[in-house]
Amino acid sequence: MRPVSSHRLPPPPSALRGRIVVAAVAVGAFAAAGAGQLGQAAADEGTDVQLANHSGGAATFDGVGGDTASAPQILAVSKTTSEGSAEAAKLLRSQQLTTEREAVEAEKKRPKFVRPAAGDFTSGYGGRWGTMHLGIDIAGPIGTPILSAADGVVIEAGPASGFGLWVRVQHEDGTITVYGHVDTYSVKEGQQVKAGQQIARMGNRGFSTGPHLHFEVWNPGGQKINPLTWLNARGVTV
Ligand SMILES: [Zn+2]
Repeated sequence: MRPVSSHRLPPPPSALRGRIVVAAVAVGAFAAAGAGQLGQAAADEGTDVQLANHSGGAATFDGVGGDTASAPQILAVSKTTSEGSAEAAKLLRSQQLTTEREAVEAEKKRPKFVRPAAGDFTSGYGGRWGTMHLGIDIAGPIGTPILSAADGVVIEAGPASGFGLWVRVQHEDGTITVYGHVDTYSVKEGQQVKAGQQIARMGNRGFSTGPHLHFEVWNPGGQKINPLTWLNARGVTV
């Protein structure tokens, strides 16, 4: 629109029109100088007014007059914007505090212990087939997500005799949870993990008769304790 209207401009018919154009430009510049950050927008407005003035005869005066009258308003807007910036900063800070408070609340509320995998509880801790089964089994399709049962640090992720691949996570009190027969793992030694964070996927590696998670809990003394008891004591049912 603007380039077209410029292109169609007739030559200025009089010196008066030339002055009006200059005045319009000056208004635009004034507005730009006063408006600070709004300067570019105001300057654009000034340019628009100037172009509009060219296309109209008598309306030219109204256009310029109107724009001149509006200049103080632009300045007023500028001042308001400055105060508004302070308000916006306050609002932003308030929002940040809210976000931080919500993060603290979410941290309090989030589960600190979780079931390590969805699926069917197929084998408990204790004697089985004449041997001791020192963990629990949860069966499901290959690829079922395996989650860290609690916050901790990955102390091992890789091959393990009998388990094919396993992941071991050590928790704050020294307890270690073990995730065996995994198909794949997605963590590495030294990595911090949160309760419920996916660390591996269910598999059928090692001495396994079907896709399942073999889950063990080693107490801080290194004894393999009943994972079900350990989970139940922490509000988790399997
Ligand atoms: Zn097992």
